[in-house]
Amino acid sequence: MKSQDIRSKFLKFFEDKKHAIVPSAPMVLKDDPTLMFVNSGMAPFKEYFLGNAEPKSNRIADSQKCLRVSGKHNDLEEVGYDTYHHTLFEMLGNWSFGDYFKKEAIAWAWELLTEVYKIDKDILYVTVFEGDEEDGTPLDTEAYDIWKQYIAEDRILKGNKKDNFWEMGDQGPCGPCSEIHVDIRSAEEKAKVSGKELVNMDHPQVVEIWNLVFMQYNRKANGSLENLPNKHIDTGMGFERLCMVLQNVQSNYDTDVFTPIIREIETIADKDYGKNEKIDVAIRVISDHVRAVAFSIADGQLPSNTGAGYVIRRILRRAIRYGFTFLDQKEPFIYRLVDVLIKKMGEAFPELKEQRQLIENVIKEEEASFLRTLDQGLLLLDRIITHSNTKEISGNKVFELKDTYGFPEDLTDLILRENGFTYNHEEFDKKLKEQQERGKQASQLKSDDWTIVLEDDEQEFIGYDVTEANVKLTKYRKV
Ligand code: ATP
Ligand code: MG
Ligand code: MG
Ligand code: MG
Repeated sequence: MKSQDIRSKFLKFFEDKKHAIVPSAPMVLKDDPTLMFVNSGMAPFKEYFLGNAEPKSNRIADSQKCLRVSGKHNDLEEVGYDTYHHTLFEMLGNWSFGDYFKKEAIAWAWELLTEVYKIDKDILYVTVFEGDEEDGTPLDTEAYDIWKQYIAEDRILKGNKKDNFWEMGDQGPCGPCSEIHVDIRSAEEKAKVSGKELVNMDHPQVVEIWNLVFMQYNRKANGSLENLPNKHIDTGMGFERLCMVLQNVQSNYDTDVFTPIIREIETIADKDYGKNEKIDVAIRVISDHVRAVAFSIADGQLPSNTGAGYVIRRILRRAIRYGFTFLDQKEPFIYRLVDVLIKKMGEAFPELKEQRQLIENVIKEEEASFLRTLDQGLLLLDRIITHSNTKEISGNKVFELKDTYGFPEDLTDLILRENGFTYNHEEFDKKLKEQQERGKQASQLKSDDWTIVLEDDEQEFIGYDVTEANVKLTKYRKV
C-alpha cells in the first residue's frame, strides 16, 4: 500500500465514524510562549481540552506535522542512527472532545489496524497503565478489560507512569494511555528467542506505533486528581512507522515516504545507500532534515540566528555537514531534493508546492554560505595542523575557529582526530562559557523578522552534535 493511500485510508476510516477531517495546523507556532514547534497532534487542540475554546466538531481526525527537536521531546540525536525517530514526522490522530471514550477509541484502533490495514494481530502488543501508588492513580482496569476482548492477555502489558500516563503539565487534564507496539522481527529471528525473551519491548524492531490517551482526570494545583466532567480521547500514530509496518520493511527510510529522496541523494552524490554505515547515516540524516527544513520554511519559519529560526538553521547545517563530510558534497545540493519531496508530499501538504521557490532559494543560499565557512575553516585548520609541534591543539584556537569563522567544534574534532590530533577541551569549554556569559549580559532581548519564543531554548536544543563525529553504528531505542 502506498503511503498516500495509507494516509487517506486513516482519514476515510474516521470520517466514516463521523469525524470532521481537518488539515494539519502550521507546525510553526507564533503565539504559544510554551512551545516553539508543534510536537504532537494534540498541541493545536490544547485550548479545547482546557475548555477555553469550542471545537467545530466534537470528533476530529487529521494528520499533523510535528517537529521534535527541542524541549521535552527532542529526538534529534536519534535521527539517522535509529530507523524510526525523525525530526519532522506526521502524526495521524483522532479526537473526541467530551464525546466517545475508551470503548470506541480502542475498538476503532483495533478495527483500523487489523481489518482495514490487515496487520496480523499476532505481531501486536498493547500496554495499559499499571497505576501509581504514590499519587493514588489506579491500574487502568477499564482499558485492560476492553483490550482483552480483542487481544490475548499475554499481549497486554502493564506500563509505568513514564510511558502510560499523559499529563499536559503540572496541572490540568491528564490520564492513562495505551500504546500499540508492532513486532516486525522476522520469523527466523523470533525463533531464536523464546518465552519471556520474545516479549521484548526494548528490541529495536518492536516499535511503538500508536498512543491512545484517555483524558479522564484533572490534576489540581495541590497535585490531587479529580474526575473530569467531560472525558476526552487524544490519539497519535506515527505515519512513517505505520508505513514501515504496512510496506513490510524494517526501517522508515525504506518506505516510499523516504526512498525517492534517498534515490535522489544517491544519484547526486554518486553513493549507494546500504553499503557503508557512515554513508547510510549521512543519507538518512539528510533525507530527514530536508523535510524538516522545507516544511518549516513553507510555514514561514526561515533559518536565522535566534530562537526557532536558529533551530532550523542548526538542522540544515547538520545536514550540510553530513553531506560535506561523508558524501563529499562541497557544493549546494540539498535544495535539489526539494523537487522530489514536493512530488511526494505536495498533494497532502499544498503549502510546499506554493512555497517551492522560496524553499529552494533559502536552502540553496544557506548551503552556499555555510559551505564557504566550512572551506575557509578547513584551510585554517590545515594550517594549524601543519604548524603545530605538539599533537594537542590549544582549545583557544578551536574556539577562535568557531567564534570568528563559524567552524563547528565537532567538525574540528573529527578532522583533528582523523589526523591523529586532539585539542584541549577544558580550554575550549572555558572560552565558550565566558562568551555565553557575555552574550547573556549584552542582549536580554533579541528580535528577528519572525516571532521568536523561548530564547533560552537555543542552548538546550543543540544537544550533542558531537555524536556526529562518533558515528554510532547500531540502532538503539530510547528507554
Ligand atoms: P517513542 O517512545 O518511540 O519515542 P513517543 O512515546 O515519544 O515515541 P508519542 O509522544 O506517544 O511518542 O507520540 C505518538 C506516536 O508518534 C508514537 O507512537 C510514534 O508512532 C510517533 N512518534 C513519536 N516520536 C516520533 C519521531 N521522532 N519520529 C517519528 N514518529 C514518532
Ligand atoms: Mg519519544
Ligand atoms: Mg514511547
Ligand atoms: Mg508514546
